[in-house]
Amino acid sequence: MPKFVFDFTEGNKDLKDLLGGKGANLAEMTNLGLPVPPGFTITTEACRHYLEHGSLPEGLGDEVNRHLAALEQRMGKRLGEPGDPLLVSVRSGAKFSMPGMMETVLNIGLNDESVHGLAAQAGDERFAWDSYRRLIQMFGKTVLDIDGDLFEDAIEAAKDAKGTKDDGDLDAADFRALVGRFKEIVREHTGRDFPTDPREQMDLAVKAVFDSWNADRAILYRRQERIPADVGTAVNICSMVFGNLGMDSGTGVAFTRDPASGQQGIYGDYLQNAQGEDVVAGIRNTVALIELERIDKASYDRLLEIMETLENHYLDMCDIEFTIERGKLWMLQTRVGKRTAAAAFRIACQLLDQGLIDADEAATRVTGDQLAQLMFPRFDEARLADARRLTKGMNASPGAAVGKAVFTTEAAVRAAAEGEDVILVRRETNPDDLAGMVAARGVLTSRGGKTSHAAVVARGMGKTCVCGAEELDVDVKGRRFTGPGGVVVNEGDVVSIDGTSGEVYLGEVPVEDSPVVLYFEGRLTDSEGGELVQAVHRLMRHADERAGMTVRANADNAEDSARARRFGAQGIGLCRTEHMFLGDRRQLVEKLILAGDAEERTAALDALEPLQRSDFEGIFEAMDGLPVTIRLIDPPLHEFLPDMTELAVKIALAGDGADPQDRRLLEAVRRLHEQNPMLGLRGVRLGLVIPGLFSMQVRAIAEAAAHRRAAGGDPRPEIMIPLVGAVQELEAIREEAKGVLAEVAEASGVDVPALIGTMIELPRAALTAGQIAEAAEFFSFGTNDLTQTTWGFSRDDVEAAFFSRYLDLGIFGVSPFETLDREGVGRLIRIAVEEGRRTRPDLKLGICGEHGGDPDSVHFCHEVGLDYVSCSPFRIPVARLEAGRAAIAAATG
Ligand code: PEP
Ligand code: MG
Repeated sequence: MPKFVFDFTEGNKDLKDLLGGKGANLAEMTNLGLPVPPGFTITTEACRHYLEHGSLPEGLGDEVNRHLAALEQRMGKRLGEPGDPLLVSVRSGAKFSMPGMMETVLNIGLNDESVHGLAAQAGDERFAWDSYRRLIQMFGKTVLDIDGDLFEDAIEAAKDAKGTKDDGDLDAADFRALVGRFKEIVREHTGRDFPTDPREQMDLAVKAVFDSWNADRAILYRRQERIPADVGTAVNICSMVFGNLGMDSGTGVAFTRDPASGQQGIYGDYLQNAQGEDVVAGIRNTVALIELERIDKASYDRLLEIMETLENHYLDMCDIEFTIERGKLWMLQTRVGKRTAAAAFRIACQLLDQGLIDADEAATRVTGDQLAQLMFPRFDEARLADARRLTKGMNASPGAAVGKAVFTTEAAVRAAAEGEDVILVRRETNPDDLAGMVAARGVLTSRGGKTSHAAVVARGMGKTCVCGAEELDVDVKGRRFTGPGGVVVNEGDVVSIDGTSGEVYLGEVPVEDSPVVLYFEGRLTDSEGGELVQAVHRLMRHADERAGMTVRANADNAEDSARARRFGAQGIGLCRTEHMFLGDRRQLVEKLILAGDAEERTAALDALEPLQRSDFEGIFEAMDGLPVTIRLIDPPLHEFLPDMTELAVKIALAGDGADPQDRRLLEAVRRLHEQNPMLGLRGVRLGLVIPGLFSMQVRAIAEAAAHRRAAGGDPRPEIMIPLVGAVQELEAIREEAKGVLAEVAEASGVDVPALIGTMIELPRAALTAGQIAEAAEFFSFGTNDLTQTTWGFSRDDVEAAFFSRYLDLGIFGVSPFETLDREGVGRLIRIAVEEGRRTRPDLKLGICGEHGGDPDSVHFCHEVGLDYVSCSPFRIPVARLEAGRAAIAAATG
């Protein structure tokens, strides 16, 4: 039979799964010899059994009896004994911190008799009756489900009767009267008396804590924080110590260093003559912890000593809760403390310098997500104090954005085209708003949570977003929104939104670049950047040293390539050539599509080639000496043509006078129209169907490389064929490309070797990777399309339509477009890696879908043995850090 109860002397900090965070750490402190009030923990396993079967597991009662007896023996008193009662607290404590979400009951063991014993032992009648009323109040609320306001109202009434507003003015008789009143409330609302049997109190409280795992707020919190729903909570039963026994008692919280900056020092709050709940309730003002030195020097010194012990033991910043009972210090809780992203980097390096941890460990103490947070532009702290704060919504996608409020996609696109910065304000967004979201600096919505369309899409784009700002009344038709206090913001008025905090401001708040980005850009050296930048510099350097994979960029122009290189990219993993066909060049593509014969087609291709060539030259120059993977055109050609409906309307309106060119164009648009372009004439299929298209691109690549080589450069082109599903497709294009490369080499007299490889972005490609590798020198996993085709999801359609529902239902915890779906898509990748390498052991393997910049996906790529990940320039530092962390994790197990 499993063991369901652990004494604090039996557990340790590594048993969080079983004992919860609080129980595991209480045990750890107990074993360190720190002053923890004795007690025991009932495991999460018992909770899971209870939640599943609706009853406590067999044998639990006996085990609790044994542990309680041992506790009583150690304390020299019995639970609720009339003359000198042992009192206990019953506290929840899950594996993951869920602050305030579950229940706690203090002072278990008090009843009409033992209250006198407590009064006698403490020598304090008032304290005893106050403790008793606290028990009935907490028990009533959490175990018996009575509205807490009823108790609060009774206290208010007692104070009114006394003509005071301060709890401190209530005396023993008042609390005694309140106990009577509270018992009446219990009777009125439950039809039974408050249970006076101490053991019954304890058992009911344990069940209530278990039940609180499934309270609405706990469920909501778990969803938000992505905490699994089935792990359950442990229950800690701990002998009571009292911070409210007079001015020589008190309670406090502390951090072993500043959780915002990482600086060492005394950070915390203390409240004299109080219990922990009073601090949380904010009934009286706390004092800074440093004051404790004056109030109780001995306890203060002991506390600092313990904090040092904890840091040296946990090798990290800890937070603690403590109580002083008549000059004796007790530790009630500790855990590794939460911190800001900046503090995480600083603290990791501080601990490294103190010799507490090594560089590998330091790198594991920070995450790519934290680094990403440090890279967003932010509002100038100094100017924030003067800003006019309007409201606060959800911090859906980090960053700071300022612009004129606009209320429609059309207005956003129009204003952006005129060079205006705009914030798109909507009640909620839908797929039709996509263009507006792209054009805007930021997005603000009054509805929807962190998984709403606006939030999911904005995060995907790296666009600042505040969503669910419920105090705003958005009137799209009237082109305005109204905020708290009736403040009206009309279209064109400037607002500032902070996607990191969720704050919304009126008017312009100055934005500043992140110093971390300035450092990556090379505009700030590590020594100029202060402690934070230095910490980032050190940890990045170490991650680079340890990384097994390199990091490349998805970039399609020279400027982005140069920036990517400054950010540490070691090549280009994806140059999407279709991006070179936009703007003015769209007309040339139109000509290609409309070409009536081979001559016209050749003329159109000839016009495009020099433009492509010069683009490639720029990229090769920026990435000199590093590999540049150029993907031949992928999207269906109709994407380069005007909108079918608009064109049809134009022609219809012009009637007989319609431009013949427009008519030809409409015919082409109709011919090329596809029901599902994602699965239509695109990728390698285009190359096989449109004669000369891929050859033109390969020629441009080869000539650009030859020019660079002739100019003394070191171009390293890699030609990548998209959307291959069968090796035969690749073979045909490969032959064509080889021919063009040979022609250019001969004509130019310069031979530039170019690898030819393919993207793996269809399940069939993954499943036949062994064959495809015969014709490919490299594979790059296009996990955007591979995710779409594996799930049968068309991204543009599904994200807005039902992803928030899927997230709510827990079908996935995170969108498979954000973090690689290891079980499905990941399985295909594993197959392709294994079978591809079996055919061609030196096959180069990378990933270029957006997952290449996602921390968890980077770890997966390391695990399956890819050579590189490729991501957008801005994500490169994140991918570098995670590539290093993945290697360290693999090496240290
Ligand atoms: C992919 O499918 O993952 C990919 C990189 O190609 P694109 O996003 O251009 O379709
Ligand atoms: Mg693709």
